[in-house]
Amino acid sequence: NVPVVTIDGPSGSGKGTVAALLAKEFDWHLLDSGALYRLTALAAMNHDVDFSDEKSLEVLAGHLDVQFEPGGEGETLKIILEGERVGANLRTEEVGAKASQIAALPGVRKALLQRQQDFAEAPGLVADGRDMGTVVFPQANVKVYLTASAEERAKRRQNQLQQKGIDASFDQLLGDIIARDDRDMNRDVAPLKPADDAIVLDSTRLSIQEVFSRVVDVMRQ
Ligand code: C5P
Repeated sequence: NVPVVTIDGPSGSGKGTVAALLAKEFDWHLLDSGALYRLTALAAMNHDVDFSDEKSLEVLAGHLDVQFEPGGEGETLKIILEGERVGANLRTEEVGAKASQIAALPGVRKALLQRQQDFAEAPGLVADGRDMGTVVFPQANVKVYLTASAEERAKRRQNQLQQKGIDASFDQLLGDIIARDDRDMNRDVAPLKPADDAIVLDSTRLSIQEVFSRVVDVMRQ
């Protein structure tokens, strides 16, 4: 029984960053489950699959040809989709929105379930997403639900983009975040919500380091 820590929460709550820090700290495996939904969306775009064609999307998700390899200096992971390296494109809001659209399809979620569970290998796993604690790893040892106000998340996203030299409108970013929250929280399958046994952390007034320390404390208890 491999120890598993799950970090779920809405888009932009900092869960990806915290999960990566935890995996590094404990030298555990890392599952960025959102990447699998994004990769499925990307593959669908590459193959001109209709986003309303659930059956084809399900087959695509079930046969996703992807490798996660250790990245170079300062990079976390290299992602190879169908033989080609995936770039920053994967993280765009467009792909995120498409991912959230296909993530509402039960067939797609089912097709990705086992692939996600296979990440639980010794010595341990840190898994981040929306349903890690509720559906994929219900037996996890520590479950965290990380949230923050939509305004704070939009502000963080705007700062991130600014660092890359991209000027984005705050209102547009806030609108995107609210729309994605709404879709992720109100879908029929695996809606975003804290697991009954999750620790809920609101990071609106906490730094990433503070969130990280709190989770490490819980893990060491
Ligand atoms: O976390 P990230 O923004 O990369 O995820 C993209 C989308 O994939 C989310 O908005 C959500 O709809 C979906 N997703 C999901 N379940 C997960 C991870 C992501 O439904 N475990």
